[in-house]
Amino acid sequence: MYLTYDVIVVGSGFSAIAVTCNLIEQLPASAKVAVVGDDPGFGRGTAYRTELYLHRLNVPAGRMSLLPHQPDDFVDWLKSHGRPLQAGDFASRSDYGLYVRDTLARLLRKRDGRCRVDFIKAKAAGCVERYSSTLAFHLGNGDEIAGRNVVLCLGVGNATLPVAPDGVPASLRSRIIENPWRLSWLRRVAPSDAVCILGSGLTMIDQVLALRAHGHSGKIDVLSRRGLAPLGHAWKPPVPLPIDVQRLPETISGILKTLRAKSRTVADWRAVMDGLRPATQALWQRLSSEERARFLRHALPWWNIHRHRVAPDVFDKFEKLVLDGTVRFHAGFLKSLGAEEGRSLPATGSERRARSPRSGRTGSSTAREWNGPGSVIHRF
Ligand SMILES: Cc1cc2nc3c(=O)[nH]c(=O)nc-3n(C[C@H](O)[C@H](O)[C@H](O)COP(=O)(O)OP(=O)(O)OC[C@H]3O[C@@H](n4cnc5c(N)ncnc54)[C@H](O)[C@@H]3O)c2cc1C
Repeated sequence: MYLTYDVIVVGSGFSAIAVTCNLIEQLPASAKVAVVGDDPGFGRGTAYRTELYLHRLNVPAGRMSLLPHQPDDFVDWLKSHGRPLQAGDFASRSDYGLYVRDTLARLLRKRDGRCRVDFIKAKAAGCVERYSSTLAFHLGNGDEIAGRNVVLCLGVGNATLPVAPDGVPASLRSRIIENPWRLSWLRRVAPSDAVCILGSGLTMIDQVLALRAHGHSGKIDVLSRRGLAPLGHAWKPPVPLPIDVQRLPETISGILKTLRAKSRTVADWRAVMDGLRPATQALWQRLSSEERARFLRHALPWWNIHRHRVAPDVFDKFEKLVLDGTVRFHAGFLKSLGAEEGRSLPATGSERRARSPRSGRTGSSTAREWNGPGSVIHRF
């Protein structure tokens, strides 16, 4: 016979810990919660386990509290840890990871009147319905637990390399970086090495800046399906434009048209994106499954670069590297990875168009090879 939990939280990254903190705050002492996960960087997940101070949050500190009823919690934590940042500043993600862990530890220390929380170090391997009111989870360690409510906090996982590195000799495979969050890879890159980064999101910007901080001065080619990179927050954030979700059209094309028209009525388009922020969930829930699929197919990359913006000083640093030609964007698909004498690892891709992050200018081109002594291929 096994214990039946009131809530099972599956995962041990950021969302799992954020949910657990709030369950501890809100559930009665009689409740039982299990957190199931096998992540050694408990609570920090992919985003907040970085150890480099230059890797920053992309949301101002004042909006990153774990506890909705204490909006200043993170800013207060920063102050009490010798980092006197303001609510509008962008803190480091490593500090945020420590804050997440500290907050959980602080809530767990309160023994009086808090619910029971069991941390189970295992992977959830399967799930079945039991007696129509509970779900039973099979764990990687052979155990089974049951829960009346389940919160899945599984993250997005890692992308796999889109081509098989078959032709690449073992001696060069170490130049394909599987996990850029193990920062030891930076030591394998010589200052003048050419680097090719697959993917052009937030992780790409982090890795470009980490390379620079590590003394790298070679060219960096960035390849992604659309060649779009995250945009920056404004130094002086505009006042959000309130958006009434109920008055928006119910199709993605209609919504985009309306939002574009709204952004022409304000001095800074960010006012529209920031106005959408509190309405996003309601907007998503209103969409039919066809429209949701349409959004994911066509609009997601555009949403990502406008919605998940980087701190303004981070954007300025990054843009300088784009403008001086150090970082070059390519829109297209990786087709093959080869091997040459010495340290070279040529990658071939087919391009559809490249876009500069700020100007939005496009240029057309076809298949081309990114090649250089000691190319490093990154994947995200
Ligand atoms: C580079 C980068 C920067 C970001 N910056 C910000 C930011 O500044 N602000 C912001 O709000 N968001 C940011 N994000 C988004 C951020 O990733 C999410 O906000 C959040 O961290 C995602 O948390 P998660 O729990 O969903 O995923 P993760 O934190 O990645 O955790 C997923 C967990 O699920 C576990 N898991 C998976 N499968 C199983 C299984 N079968 N059984 C048990 N456990 C399992 C994994 O081991 C892992 O612990 C950033 C993301 C990235 C990549």
